[in-house]
Amino acid sequence: MPPQVVVVGAGPVGCVAGAMLAAGGIEVTLLEAAPELPRQLRASTFHPATLDLLDHLGVVDEMIRRGLVAPRFAYRDRNHGVVAEFDLGTLADITNYPFRLQCEQYKLCEIMLERLGRMDNVTVRFGTEVTGATDRGDTASALLASGETLVADAVVAADGAGSAVRKSLGLGFDGMTYQDRYLVLSTPFEMADHLDGLAYVNYISDPEEWLVLLRTVDLWRALFPVGDDETDAEALGDRSVQGRLNGIVARNEPYEVIHRTIYRVHQRVADRFLVGRVVLMGDAAHINNPLGGMGMNGGIHDAVLLGASLAAVLRGDIDADRLDRHAEFRRTMAIDYVRRHTHQNARSLAAPDGAARQRALDQMAARAADPEEARAYMLQASMIDAVTPMREELEELGVNPRGP
Ligand SMILES: Cc1cc2nc3c(=O)[nH]c(=O)nc-3n(C[C@H](O)[C@H](O)[C@H](O)COP(=O)(O)OP(=O)(O)OC[C@H]3O[C@@H](n4cnc5c(N)ncnc54)[C@H](O)[C@@H]3O)c2cc1C
Repeated sequence: MPPQVVVVGAGPVGCVAGAMLAAGGIEVTLLEAAPELPRQLRASTFHPATLDLLDHLGVVDEMIRRGLVAPRFAYRDRNHGVVAEFDLGTLADITNYPFRLQCEQYKLCEIMLERLGRMDNVTVRFGTEVTGATDRGDTASALLASGETLVADAVVAADGAGSAVRKSLGLGFDGMTYQDRYLVLSTPFEMADHLDGLAYVNYISDPEEWLVLLRTVDLWRALFPVGDDETDAEALGDRSVQGRLNGIVARNEPYEVIHRTIYRVHQRVADRFLVGRVVLMGDAAHINNPLGGMGMNGGIHDAVLLGASLAAVLRGDIDADRLDRHAEFRRTMAIDYVRRHTHQNARSLAAPDGAARQRALDQMAARAADPEEARAYMLQASMIDAVTPMREELEELGVNPRGP
């Protein structure tokens, strides 16, 4: 009988982990608490390095069909327009996908679940809440809210930021919470007809209120900070929503608003990503500021490396201490790469005073103007620099993340 793994959570990370394990010959049971796939608007950017990794699972062409290819991203001043623009097309020598793919995370889940549903060695159970997991030495178990216990060779916790598995293991989730909450609004109004040189991804600096403006296939999404002087209800109310959108492009009629969401932003990393035969990945293991779009992407990187190495350990192809090292490596990347860069992005956009704001803009303009500096910056922003250090290990595990 093949080794068995229970994966908790059918978000992007659980789906990718399940697929990596199943492709590695493991029998997978994927448990999802929600009665059907959650389709809230959350992450919507896939970076080049993540697309190179997802190529291994043969899903990228379909994602591209359902998403929007964004080769350029820009930094703007709200009053003066484009300050710096970066063309990911110049990375075509190092990635097969020299662009950000704007594609809602639930679309990846839909594509993956459709494929997992066709595999004999995968069972997907919706409406199945897990309350905790236990490491039992050479097996692990997942306890279900129904009272059922599933014993397997390993359990993967991909059950998101509030992870019941992480809590049941007593792991710390240390870090900080930002003072500002983030308000995300989406509208079908065509902003690009009114703002010169608008890219599909724009970081917009402003002395009063910075914002991020992103295009998805059907909508423009705008993300704004919300300070202590506004309650959630006030920020989500029509007065705030229409006022903020009119601050981007002033209109005589009200904006049609398709989604409005407010959420708290944190930087937190679990004490450990591996407890015996229980592996933590994605938001269950680390959460961060969304500026730069590295949260879900980093989680997918966890799922590819840890999914492939867990499968190899369970097949007996590599020693368990390799999985240990990979889990520690992913934890280091969550701290030294994802947390560092997303925090820097937040600090430079939200620079507190006029001089600091101008310095951040000047620095970005200088970067974009120097081809070598621009390339170095894009290698970091595209997360290619995050995947390069695990390339050799991935190749040894039979995953080829290389570009052309
Ligand atoms: C409002 C919002 C906006 C965001 N915007 C961005 C963004 O713009 N860019 C970005 O990079 N990131 C963003 N994020 C973060 C991003 O969505 C996450 O990094 C990403 O979803 C992580 O994927 P995951 O699979 O680890 O967790 P999740 O997507 O949270 O998936 C976890 C899954 O596990 C299920 N589950 C939870 N508990 C249990 C349980 N006990 N038993 C069984 N199943 C369970 C959940 O129903 C869910 O399907 C946003 C998050 C939020 C909340």
